[in-house]
Amino acid sequence: MFASSTYVMLDSAESVSNSLIKEHNVKTMKAVVVNEIDSYATEEVTLDPPKAGELLIKMKATGVCHSDLSLINGTIPMPLPCVLGHEGAGIVEEVGEEVTQFEVGDHVVLSFVPFCGECDDCHNHRPNMCTAGAAANGKMLDGTTRVHRGDEDLDVMTYLGCMAEYVVCSSICAVKIDKSIPLDKAALVGCGVMTGVGAAINTAKVEPGSSVAVFGCGGIGLSIIQGARLAGAGQIIAIDLSDNKLEMASSFGATHVINGSTEDAVAMVHALTNGGADYAFEAIGVPAAMEQTYNAIRRKGTAVIVGVGKLTDSMALNALLVSISGKVLMGSMYGDGNPPVDFPKLLSLYQSGKLNLDDMVSTTYAIDDVHSAFEDMQNNVNARGVIVYD
Ligand SMILES: [Zn+2]
Ligand SMILES: [Zn+2]
Repeated sequence: MFASSTYVMLDSAESVSNSLIKEHNVKTMKAVVVNEIDSYATEEVTLDPPKAGELLIKMKATGVCHSDLSLINGTIPMPLPCVLGHEGAGIVEEVGEEVTQFEVGDHVVLSFVPFCGECDDCHNHRPNMCTAGAAANGKMLDGTTRVHRGDEDLDVMTYLGCMAEYVVCSSICAVKIDKSIPLDKAALVGCGVMTGVGAAINTAKVEPGSSVAVFGCGGIGLSIIQGARLAGAGQIIAIDLSDNKLEMASSFGATHVINGSTEDAVAMVHALTNGGADYAFEAIGVPAAMEQTYNAIRRKGTAVIVGVGKLTDSMALNALLVSISGKVLMGSMYGDGNPPVDFPKLLSLYQSGKLNLDDMVSTTYAIDDVHSAFEDMQNNVNARGVIVYD
């Protein structure tokens, strides 16, 4: 909840005492804070107003992504404490100085990789690989923080920290969208859908009539399945350990399902595809599944690793077969997407009924119920759980 709406621009605020800033500018809100590994809670924190080039956004929906869990359990190492959340959508409430492309009331989906426009990757049309995005050290682009708990500065996940009632972020992390699109559906485009559909279409460039195997049917895997369906794949084989997830996979376009807890998934993919899939995707982040993904493709096939494993883990490849099989092994980050271009494209596919986001949002939660959201994720209950705000 916002306590006040009177701001002083930060340029002048620098000369104002901290107590005065608090009195006049700082907002109080709820946010999900990871305090230490495996310990997180919804807490009351304060938020500074936007600086030049930044936006204040009232969050309407935040997807609960496996990468949030990976930050909680330490798989993705981050300085703590840190405000969670990187898949969100909301409404612009205030526009910082020098921001010209947004106005109050705009609906936006947040991108968790900034497009700095100045690094080699941005210049080479690879905004998903932006050097600034790769840094993601919990601070804003200027190295400072906007969220505080008492006198303590709090870091935020990937320049956002959008599992919170409000966010201040760089305007280059926001993409304006059509106001008629429900924001709980739109939020998913900010991570899972861009990552998954993009892995199939942008990274692998799945061809019509081809065979596709997808290891892992969480929000990313289900989005890969939708991407493969959109690309016209002939066979889409879903592999998971949960029958519930495999049922969802079928509803989103899988033509075959394999429960890897009872079946030899690689052998079954080879049998179903007469020698190996044209493309296989790993959407879990586990070395054994990455190896299965590579082993499931045919000679000259393409294996795409989308899942994020631990820094200390490695995958093994047979040293004889790597060259003579001619297989292609690719990593895919953020679906090799360009958010300002691809978010509206994905949402137009939703509006035309070709991309199913309605059934991706299985359950919505209040921010106070965040623990239920993560429990349900670990119990494979949801395609995607989404936190929504008043
Ligand atoms: Zn995510
Ligand atoms: Zn850049």
